[in-house]
Amino acid sequence: MLKRFAMLGLSLMILAGCAKEVENIPNEENVPIEVDPKELIDLSLKPNESGKIMILMYHNIGEEEQTWTRTVDNLKKDLETLYEKGYRPISLSDYVTGNITTELGYTPVVLTFDDGNLNNYRYLEDGSLDPNCAVGILVEFNRTHPDFPLEATFFITSSNPFKQSQYAKEKVEALIEMGMDIGNHSKDHMNFKDASKDDLEEQLGYQAQYLETFTPEGYRVNTLALPYGSRPKNTDLEIYLQKGQYEDYSYENIAILNVGWYPALSPYHVDFNALSLPRVRASEMNVDNVGMYNYLSYFDNHPEEKFISDGNPDIITIPEDLVDKLTINESKELYTYPRQ
Ligand SMILES: [Zn+2]
Repeated sequence: MLKRFAMLGLSLMILAGCAKEVENIPNEENVPIEVDPKELIDLSLKPNESGKIMILMYHNIGEEEQTWTRTVDNLKKDLETLYEKGYRPISLSDYVTGNITTELGYTPVVLTFDDGNLNNYRYLEDGSLDPNCAVGILVEFNRTHPDFPLEATFFITSSNPFKQSQYAKEKVEALIEMGMDIGNHSKDHMNFKDASKDDLEEQLGYQAQYLETFTPEGYRVNTLALPYGSRPKNTDLEIYLQKGQYEDYSYENIAILNVGWYPALSPYHVDFNALSLPRVRASEMNVDNVGMYNYLSYFDNHPEEKFISDGNPDIITIPEDLVDKLTINESKELYTYPRQ
């Protein structure tokens, strides 16, 4: 009897050993066991996808700091500061469409440059990229900080983007190839205050169509930075900022950017309006306490007001008391948690 029990025990041990091995073998359909993606969200990082996002506004990069010029060193300082404080660039179109892929625990930021001047994107005489133009600085920063994505939009007015006509197409193509964007800043940098319907359609339709002669096949110029931040006084004409027709070309903008003076809302916020987005001046000169560094220190002191990503564009994570502030479509899953 004893012997039989002993043998039974041995067979059970063998069976148990086999069972352990079986656990590591994929199941019959070879389907990996699903993990709820919400479990990957570390709530101790306090994700808040109803929080604010800065759209930073630059113009020129130059030797001397001026109201509308940032020096090379200051642009580098800005990028370093953003990096250190946990900000990571996203594209304007990902922002307005709510495709926020920013890593868990980090805050998205949108970089914009207005006018399309030479100091934004310059090739030197030997044909190499000037390390002291905006694009050169961004490319180098991304090379040394690969987790700071190369995302920025350059809003171009008038003809000859970036003012080296022999390189215009090459530059615009390279910019888009690198993942950055160009946007519309009107044909003549017109102040739209007194503009007519025809003016708006020409200024925006002509320019979008013109810029698309430089872009790769299929790329649409569909974002607008308002020159001087001005809108038509006659509000019935605002629709032509968004869409219209010039000759046989139709344009439609998915984002319209104003000039100042405060951080923008989350794209999932109930009051979000992609057709009137505020920007923050990326400067320390004449910013009237509403410049980039003012808001960076504000968010240092009020981290609960900034957007903190959950790392998953399909899940929208927020503290549960903010649920009334959100409106999300059914392609996204809402995930709430109690504030500590
Ligand atoms: Zn401008």
